[in-house]
Amino acid sequence: MLSTMQDVPLLISRILTHGSRVHGASRVTTWTGEAEPHRRTFAEIGGRAAQLAHALRDELGVRDDDRVATLMWNNAEHVEAYFAVPAMGAVLHTLNLRLPAEQLAWIVNHAADKVVVVNGSLIPLLAPLLPRLPTLEHIVVSGPGDRAPLAGAAARVHEYEDLIAGRPTGYDWPELDERRAAAMCYTSGTTGDPKGVVYSHRSVYLHSMQVNMAQSMGLTDRDTSLVVVPQFHVNAWGLPHATFMTGVNMLMPDRFLQPAPLAGMIEGERPTHAAAVPTIWQGLLAELHARPRDVSSLTQVTIGGSACPPSLMAAFDALGMRVCHAWGMTETSPLGTVARPPAHAAGTEEEFAYRLTQGRFPAGVEARLTGPGGERLPWDGASAGELEVRGAWIAGAYYNGPDAEPLRPTDKFSEDGWLKTGDVGTISPDGFLTLTDRAKDVIKSGGEWISSVELENALMSHPDVAEAAVVAVPDEKWGERPLATVVLREGARTDFEALRAFLTEEAHIARWQLPERWTIVESVPKTSVGKFDKKVLRRRYAEGDLDVTRL
Ligand code: ADP
Repeated sequence: MLSTMQDVPLLISRILTHGSRVHGASRVTTWTGEAEPHRRTFAEIGGRAAQLAHALRDELGVRDDDRVATLMWNNAEHVEAYFAVPAMGAVLHTLNLRLPAEQLAWIVNHAADKVVVVNGSLIPLLAPLLPRLPTLEHIVVSGPGDRAPLAGAAARVHEYEDLIAGRPTGYDWPELDERRAAAMCYTSGTTGDPKGVVYSHRSVYLHSMQVNMAQSMGLTDRDTSLVVVPQFHVNAWGLPHATFMTGVNMLMPDRFLQPAPLAGMIEGERPTHAAAVPTIWQGLLAELHARPRDVSSLTQVTIGGSACPPSLMAAFDALGMRVCHAWGMTETSPLGTVARPPAHAAGTEEEFAYRLTQGRFPAGVEARLTGPGGERLPWDGASAGELEVRGAWIAGAYYNGPDAEPLRPTDKFSEDGWLKTGDVGTISPDGFLTLTDRAKDVIKSGGEWISSVELENALMSHPDVAEAAVVAVPDEKWGERPLATVVLREGARTDFEALRAFLTEEAHIARWQLPERWTIVESVPKTSVGKFDKKVLRRRYAEGDLDVTRL
């Protein structure tokens, strides 16, 4: 029997129409580095998104599922592109502006981008690549920055504001199939070529509803969210779409991502929520300790992308900024789990431990653990295996070029269609995920596994340690052993022996897991999305480029 319900496709245009009408007075505030930030209401964004869609269709000839790329910071114009492009039926492709030039060119060509909307300040990044980007027909420039390097480009160059000026502020958004491509994002390619994930209107819509649930980020129109996580990093974790559903105001840092301007934004604009990877927050914390500000408005901070060190969570708690830990991937849109402790843990000692897990699976994400032999492991909080997930906003394949079927490489997807995450951990009986490591970062020492993350967290809980990354290095006797790479705070007085003693005595790390190899670095190399780049550390070690002390 069929249902009697209406079959209304879940489209991004519906999120835009709703947000710009029902929450028309909510605002996107963009930091400018000048006395006044730039403010635009959701109603204005709705009108300008329609103008942009008219321009893309009528002036630039964007049709069907043409790819429109963005090479932009987080700002109001980027939000306009976020809605205009998918709503008109084309595909938004957010480019990671921190990728090496080689990879960026590879990705643009792989996606066959026809248009790129670029911030003026990023022209120096784009211009040298242009001779290698044959599919690009149009470049649309927004915001300050010297245009001169674009002179002589084969693609036509347009000014964003001129392009949209005078066009109708309404658009008859097409009724699309909700399963069509809406946006695409490439994984940062830590191993091999980057892989393209293509989100559908339906997956974005459902994911946005999840972001808005109380057990997820649960924000409302009373909130202002400081969206530090880049719009090119898995759709800024879904925030731009989710906020248009509920009227949450957005505070966008544009290119001002250093700790001092971030602290200034928090003090000046008083956001209630913020989202970013741990390295951003480590930097902000040091800034707040050096120059205290009023950050009392900020009561909820979503941290994900890599494990949140317990010391960071505790330090933020002490400042009144309550951390909510979450786990996800490009392939999971990204929200996979959110660490809201269960009711019975509230106010107990257990609560902090629950908050440190990667979080609980929502109804829309099914999970299972697979052991080394392919066996299913129980949710007992102890059996560790590779996490596999399935759901309406989880990728089932990778993009394989415009004329090919989507790709399903067997190493990333199980035969029955689940995503193999490459993350290793346990799941408790009540559905909380605890990751011990990424499969490729686990240290395999004499048949036992050492969690690099556990060692890092332990080291970073030492007051003299600003950052610490631990990687596996080859060892004749054990196969692999941990190398501890430590960044000390200014004025630190500790040494390797003392740190090693701290690991056993204070952090209760088992003796056999203690690193013998230690090195001090000025900073831990970071990936394009701000995570510890362990590949670079392993390479530097192999090339003898690190000054290693053996204890
Ligand atoms: P990349 O693979 O290039 O880092 P993603 O942003 O898609 O790009 O990374 C997803 C991975 O990040 C996950 O598979 C996991 O290993 C890691 N990750 C994300 N959130 C967390 C978290 N809260 N704790 C530990 N690891 C995390």
